Amino acid sequence: MKSNLVSNPKIPFGIFLEDFRDRSRHAYRVRADIDQLSTSRGMPPFVMREVMSGNPLSINIPEQYGGRGGKVEEILALLSAASYESLALSLTLGINSALFLQPLAKYGSEEAKSMVFDRFMTAQNMGGLMITEPGHGSDALNMQTSFTSSGDSYNVKGTKHWAGLTGWADFWLLTAREQMKSGDLKRDVDFFLCDVNQNGQQIVVEEFFDNLGLYQIPYGRNRIDVEIPLLHRLQPHSTGIKLLLDLLHRSRLQFPGMALGFIQRMMDEALSHTKERIVSGKRLVEYDQVQHRLAELQSSFTIASAMCANSSEKAGIEHDLSGSGVEANAVKSYVTDLMQNAAQSLVQLVGAKAYRLSHIGGRGITDSRPFQIFEGSNDMLYSQISDAIVKQMKQAKESNLFKFLQSNDLTQKATGYLKELLDFNLNLELPQRKMVELGQALSRIISMEMVLDLGTKGFRSDLIENSISSLQKEITSLMGQFSYMLQPQLIVDYQENSTWYDLGNR
Ligand SMILES: Cc1cc2nc3c(=O)[nH]c(=O)nc-3n(C[C@H](O)[C@H](O)[C@H](O)COP(=O)(O)OP(=O)(O)OC[C@H]3O[C@@H](n4cnc5c(N)ncnc54)[C@H](O)[C@@H]3O)c2cc1C
Repeated sequence: MKSNLVSNPKIPFGIFLEDFRDRSRHAYRVRADIDQLSTSRGMPPFVMREVMSGNPLSINIPEQYGGRGGKVEEILALLSAASYESLALSLTLGINSALFLQPLAKYGSEEAKSMVFDRFMTAQNMGGLMITEPGHGSDALNMQTSFTSSGDSYNVKGTKHWAGLTGWADFWLLTAREQMKSGDLKRDVDFFLCDVNQNGQQIVVEEFFDNLGLYQIPYGRNRIDVEIPLLHRLQPHSTGIKLLLDLLHRSRLQFPGMALGFIQRMMDEALSHTKERIVSGKRLVEYDQVQHRLAELQSSFTIASAMCANSSEKAGIEHDLSGSGVEANAVKSYVTDLMQNAAQSLVQLVGAKAYRLSHIGGRGITDSRPFQIFEGSNDMLYSQISDAIVKQMKQAKESNLFKFLQSNDLTQKATGYLKELLDFNLNLELPQRKMVELGQALSRIISMEMVLDLGTKGFRSDLIENSISSLQKEITSLMGQFSYMLQPQLIVDYQENSTWYDLGNR
C-alpha cells in the first residue's frame, strides 16, 4: 500500500524522501543491526528488499517512462539520506544513478531506454559501469577491451575489474575501443548496454575481491565476451571521449550528495559521544582541541551542503559537462578528502572503541577511503585542476593569480577574502607536485565561492561564517606550502649507508 503510494511520481518529494528514510532506518536499525551487518560481506536480501521497496531509483527515470524525472536536487537529497545510514547503500544508489541510468537516459536508444526503465520501475533491477581494467586504471583511455561489428551485433571482448556491483547488477555499461582490420584499436571509446539476463550477454566473474571496506558491495574481475544488439550502443553527441567526460564530470558533481549524509553522521556521532564521555572529570566537548575537531566537522558539513546546492543547479543531464573539468574535479577531490578527514576525526574523538569494524567511525575510514581513488585519483585530479587553470592563464596572457581568479566565475567572490595570499605572479612551468598543491588550494577557493553562494540563499549564517574562516585558514596553510620551493628528491637506490645500526657497529 505504502509502496504503491510512493511509487507514484506525482507524490511530493518530501513524502517520498521521508518514506525512504523510514525504510532505510528500519532496515538498518530495526530489522538488522548495521554495526553487526557490516562485519560480513554482502547485503542481506531482506535489507535490500525493504530499502528498494519504495523504488528509490525511480528518481532517475524520465517522467515519460513513469519515473520522477531525474531532478538533480532530489537525487542529491536521496543520496545524502542513504549515506546517513550506510555509505555502501548510498554508493549503490550513486552507481545506479550517475554511472548507469543518467548516461542511458541521455545517450541511449529509445528501444534500450524503454526496456531498461521498465525493468527498473517494475522489477527493481540494477546497473553499473565497467571502465577499469587490470592494466589500465587512471589511463583508462588506453583500455584494451575491444569491439567489432558483425552487422547485426557487436562483439565486445576484454577483462574489466573493480566495477561496483560485480556479479550483482542486471545491466552494465561496458566501455570498449573499436578494433580495426589491422588489429589496432581506435582512439575513441564506445559504450554498450549489456543485459546479463540475455543469452550471449553473460559476464563471467573470474574472482571476487576481498575489498577492504564497503563490505556490502561486491567487486571482482570480469571476463567479457558478449554479443550486444546494435541498438544497445550509446549514441554520443560528438565523440565517445566527450560522452565519457560528460558522464564522469556529472558523476563527480554528485559526490557531495553521498558525502553530505556521511559527514553529517560522523558529526552527529562525534557530538553525541563528546557530550557524554567524561575524561579527567570533564566532558570531552569542553576541551578546546575537541571543539576544534567538531568545528572542522561542522565546516565540512557546510561545504558539502554548499556543493550540493551548487550541483543541483548544474548537474542535470540537459547540460553538457564535458568541459566542466575544473569545477567537477575540485568538488570530487575536496569533498572526498573531507569525508576521509571526518571519519578520521570521529575515530580520534571516540578512541579505542571506534577502532572496530563494528563501529561506524572505524568502518567510515575504510568505507570512505576509495572515494579518494575511484573516478579519478585525487592526486591526479588536483594536478589536472592546476593544468587547466595554468592553460587558461596562458591563453589570457595573465600571470597574476589574484587577477585571474577574480575574473573567473568559479572564484570571483572568494578571491576578495584572499587577496594578500594570491596577489603574485604564478610560475606557469611548475613541477607536478607543486601543481598538486596549487590544485588543492584552488579546490578550496572554488568551494569557498560555493559556501558564499549558500550564505546568500539563507543557510544558517554562523555555520557559513565558521566555514569561511576554516577555509581561509586551510588555504593560507596550503599557499604557505606552495611557496616553499625546496623539494626533497627521490633517492631510488637508497640502501647503501642507510642502516643506522651498522654505523656504530661495523
Ligand atoms: C572501491 C572501488 C570502487 C570502484 N568502482 C569502479 C566502478 O564502478 N567502475 C570502474 O570502472 N572502476 C571502478 N573502480 C576502479 C577505479 O576507478 C580505479 O581504481 C582508479 O581509476 C585508479 O586506477 P588503478 O587502481 O588501476 O590505479 P593506477 O592507475 O595504477 O594509479 C595508482 C596511483 O598512481 C598515481 N597516479 C596514477 N596516474 C598518475 C599521474 N598521471 N600523475 C600522478 N600520479 C598518478 C595515483 O596516486 C593513483 O592513485 C573502483 C575502485 C575501487 C577501489
